[in-house]
Amino acid sequence: MSGFRFFEYRSGSLHAEEVPLARIASEYGTPTYVYSRAALTAAWREFTQELEGRDALVCYAMKANSNLAVLDTFARLGAGFDIVSGGELKRVLAIGGAPGKVIFSGVGKTEADIALALAHGILCFNLESAPELDRVASVAAACGVVAPISIRVNPDVDAGTHPYISTGLKENKFGVDIPTAVELYRRAAGMPAVRIVGVDCHIGSQLIDPAPLYEAQDRMLALIDVLAGYGISISHLDLGGGLGIRYSDESAPDPAAYMREVLRRIGSRRLKLMFEPGRNLVGNAGVLLTRVEFVKTAPARNFTVVDAAMNDLLRPSLYSAHHEILPVRKLGGPALISDVVGPVCESGDFLGKGRSLSTAPGELLAVMSAGAYGMVMSSNYNTRPRAAEVMVDGDRCHLVREREKVEDLFALERIAC
Ligand SMILES: *Cc1c(COP(=O)(O)O)cnc(C)c1O
Repeated sequence: MSGFRFFEYRSGSLHAEEVPLARIASEYGTPTYVYSRAALTAAWREFTQELEGRDALVCYAMKANSNLAVLDTFARLGAGFDIVSGGELKRVLAIGGAPGKVIFSGVGKTEADIALALAHGILCFNLESAPELDRVASVAAACGVVAPISIRVNPDVDAGTHPYISTGLKENKFGVDIPTAVELYRRAAGMPAVRIVGVDCHIGSQLIDPAPLYEAQDRMLALIDVLAGYGISISHLDLGGGLGIRYSDESAPDPAAYMREVLRRIGSRRLKLMFEPGRNLVGNAGVLLTRVEFVKTAPARNFTVVDAAMNDLLRPSLYSAHHEILPVRKLGGPALISDVVGPVCESGDFLGKGRSLSTAPGELLAVMSAGAYGMVMSSNYNTRPRAAEVMVDGDRCHLVREREKVEDLFALERIAC
């Protein structure tokens, strides 16, 4: 057992579903992201099972992992999408996803992105400021359409998560506080080019304790009542994403239990419920497969140098995030304590620190829980081509993104002469 569903050892060899990761490495090279379709499907089912028969829509926050094969998997399961750019809308269109199930989040929507989203008739714009409301209203008026909107409310609850991924406190750039939201709704109610459809919040990411999510929900319900007092009726409540996952030994919340508590607090209200989960649906459905180049021992510290780096998986460097690192083949030799590092020229380039591993040059390692905010945050720093992506489905493998070629990386550049 590896402790990760769908990524398990069989005869000492780590598999993704039915496929040995070693086979994927020999076929497609390393570093490579490997996703399990069964894991994506299972995560979707766990998140949505309690919503069966309810008026609800789960919009996958595709910034967590926007590979077309991942989007296609969720679209087939009935997902809508939460987008944060016009580019992400084009990904939805590329897989034949329904724009009518798309919500558009983000603090800096451009006029071009708003026009694109209006032209495709998206479900809702989640607005984050007064000037953004004005901009959406004016673009809609110019296009001769009415924009469906909700205001992203910052309910000022502490998500208790990493400062970089906490979004629901007063000092964050996201959303508007409750009094401002009331003001904006009252103003929007008088605008012919917008139609108020919902209220929305998203307080942070990787929440291990769901209590702040419930507190935010209660504040949103109170806001809906205040708005009703002004004659503004709200048809949907969007509770955002943020539900955490298990990276090592955290006790991550059970999505079904979370959903039952949300529904209990909704009681008999006639509200359509919406959610924007990202990490929860994809985080544990992917691993980053990498090969050991060198094992460098020194008196002060040992290093396992691998062929994946911070440009492939930024989370350890950016958030000090912990990812389990497992040997693909159980060697059974003595374990060495080392930092697992990449070849990038930065001291901040590491995938794990002080790990006890029995490995050797040429062996493969799997960096676990890499399905969310992995490939999407990758870069070409150090002129490193981005990794390949493979999706496993039972005993089959699909190359869902080719490895970049070095020449592609400077194909758009010119010498200034
Ligand atoms: C990033 C984001 C999400 C998804 O967050 P997770 O923690 O991955 O669930 C949802 N809504 C908005 C507005 C976001 O920016």
